[in-house]
Amino acid sequence: MIERRSKILRHRVLLVDDDLEISSAEGRAALMLKSELELSDVDVVCAPGASDGRSLFLSDAGLHGILLDWTLGNNPDDPHTAALELIRFIRSRNEKIPIFLLTDRGRSSGLSEEVLSLVSELIWLMEDSAPFIGGRIEAAIKQYSSGLLGPMASALIEFDLVHEYSWHTPGHTGGTAFQKSPAGRLFYDYFGEAMFRSDLSISVGELGSLLDHTGPIGEGEKYAAKVFGAHRTYSVTNGTSTSNRIIWMACVGRGQKIWVDRNCHKSNEQGITMTGAVPHYLMPTRNRYGLIGPIPPENLLAKKLTEGGRPVHAVITNSTYDGLTYNVGRVLEVVGDALDRIHFDEAWYGYARFHPLYRGRFAMRGNPKDHPSDAPTIFATHSTHKLLAALSQASFIHVRDGRNTIDHARFNESFMMHGSTSPFYPIIASNDVSASMMDGKGGEVLVEESIREAVAFRQMVTRLWREHDDSGDWFFQTWNPTSVKNPHTGKQEAFEAASPDLLVSEPSCWVLHPGDTWHGFDLEDDYCMLDPIKVSVVTPGVNIDGSIAEMGFPATLLTAYLDARGIVVEKTSDYAILFLFSLGITNAKWSTLVHALLAFKRDYDANAPLSECIPSVAGFYPGNGLRDLADKMQAHMKTGGILQSQAKAFSVLPEMAMTPADCYQKLVANEVERISVEDASGRTAATGLVPYPPGIPMVMPGEKLGTKKEPFLAYLLAIQEWDRKFPGFAHDTHGIEPEDGVYKLLVLK
Ligand SMILES: *Cc1c(COP(=O)(O)O)cnc(C)c1O
Repeated sequence: MIERRSKILRHRVLLVDDDLEISSAEGRAALMLKSELELSDVDVVCAPGASDGRSLFLSDAGLHGILLDWTLGNNPDDPHTAALELIRFIRSRNEKIPIFLLTDRGRSSGLSEEVLSLVSELIWLMEDSAPFIGGRIEAAIKQYSSGLLGPMASALIEFDLVHEYSWHTPGHTGGTAFQKSPAGRLFYDYFGEAMFRSDLSISVGELGSLLDHTGPIGEGEKYAAKVFGAHRTYSVTNGTSTSNRIIWMACVGRGQKIWVDRNCHKSNEQGITMTGAVPHYLMPTRNRYGLIGPIPPENLLAKKLTEGGRPVHAVITNSTYDGLTYNVGRVLEVVGDALDRIHFDEAWYGYARFHPLYRGRFAMRGNPKDHPSDAPTIFATHSTHKLLAALSQASFIHVRDGRNTIDHARFNESFMMHGSTSPFYPIIASNDVSASMMDGKGGEVLVEESIREAVAFRQMVTRLWREHDDSGDWFFQTWNPTSVKNPHTGKQEAFEAASPDLLVSEPSCWVLHPGDTWHGFDLEDDYCMLDPIKVSVVTPGVNIDGSIAEMGFPATLLTAYLDARGIVVEKTSDYAILFLFSLGITNAKWSTLVHALLAFKRDYDANAPLSECIPSVAGFYPGNGLRDLADKMQAHMKTGGILQSQAKAFSVLPEMAMTPADCYQKLVANEVERISVEDASGRTAATGLVPYPPGIPMVMPGEKLGTKKEPFLAYLLAIQEWDRKFPGFAHDTHGIEPEDGVYKLLVLK
């Protein structure tokens, strides 16, 4: 027999009152109210003053109400300022939590309009009875907490609380099947009752259906559309990989022409293969650190002017993998007339709508009502699990209907084709919750916190870099301007000395202005903005002109060093590492990273033994120190031509022998063979080749590989040589299987 754990979600309120600790009539009344609430299973957290109250409010997101003494501070000359400031602070972060002001009938007549509009109710502690007041508080906190979750998540929890027996799939029926076996029981105990009880199926009519978009699930999608600024939103439970393929299948027919960002996620390549589309690529640019930039407006324009025939669809990755965001209005200005449908793949960028810093730089910008019906139809896909808070695989498709839109009934055919008839309900609920978290002030507060932490980290690293640089020494740099213009004073300020408030609020601080040397791209002003929360740490080794410096080391060495200290990075480029400052970032987390960077510098400067710094690779380099290995790597970067051949390989397009779809048919028919890169001259790739870094397709399936002198094979041979020379630091190239140091790939027969 398993004990039914209490499913009642307890309520908790914060009582901020400095009378609690003194024996006065007010103090006794407040204590009585506390006991009354506790009798009704409401936990009461007490703060004896305004600053305690503020810290408790900040640190506990589980509060459902605030009770606040109007005469906080017991300062007869200024009796209400402390309370008023606390009320304003709470409201700046949460516009809905009930605030009860503890005062008395006499004083309440003097309350200002501001106070009356900010607080939810007045409580006359000395005049009304504790049960009466307690009842009012309970009603308000229940109402507040029941509105916290979106429609689907609320319905799911409600259903779980009410229903005891299920006869439908999943066959574990609320987890009971697992409890009959030792292995099952362990699994059940680890994940806990709630997960199993909320794993429901489409047979539960009360929750509606994901495939039909009905009931609370459909309501949840409508709610998300409102929060994310779409006309329609679809909740997807198999990641943005599936969201992208749904859009492809809904929008593009066999043999139709499409434009696609060459810097696109694999799921778009799969969409091209599944639809049988004929791809025409939009080419991004690349900077001296090997970072991939946006597609410049002139490339978009050239595409429009030089190619005959209207494409039916276009995909652009926003932001790029290194955090470069597009001025979406400008993109539409350049190509909006040439395209009826534009799909922004914003898998890493779902938070942009919720902070003014990103204004105008994401697909669902502005008010959906202002989207003219003769403007292009816009799609955005978000991996809610990536940089919002949701379970893995949670994703949204947002649609703004415009020209030649795909109405819901037609779109849903594709949606259902890619959906399961048994989606995991907690994933759907987590999409709902991610929308609730971003709704209202809460969303802006959360995003702002990420940006602030990222700014603090960038300023600290930049300060350390500057101090070392001034004395002729080296340190890491974060990839951002080294100085910014303060628009209020018109003066240029050192980045690390600029006010954090300015950096958090002023987009021009992050825009890639023409002529600035830090970014290494050539783009028109205001077209592209670096997203501060995507932080690239640059290792020394590349000069401003793109040549390889004497001193320095590729970023892969730092990645291995950090890995040995339990720090796992998001992405390693040639001379840069990407760190994500997501909603879960904390000061403690990034200070650990700063410590590790400082430790690397110490170990590098002291040429500490590899066996101590990176034990996992030390065996390959007997007797070497960190500096020894760094120097060998840097010398190879100088002579091995890796960056140069990479630059060439990613600046030209291979010739297309056939579409990805036709090529895939050859793969299915096994008209392919595995050969080594050495022997691949003149052949056609049977699968895509995606070297990491930079992680964008170099060759697509059905494209010609050229000769060994041409960039694609030359680049593969260059990194194959590196891999042989530097075991433990091998490249990862999708589509390439190394066998005993020999790169093998599939080509068409
Ligand atoms: C991660 C990613 C996807 C796929 O998203 P999943 O949710 O992991 O399936 C699609 N596009 C881009 C740009 C991505 O980075």
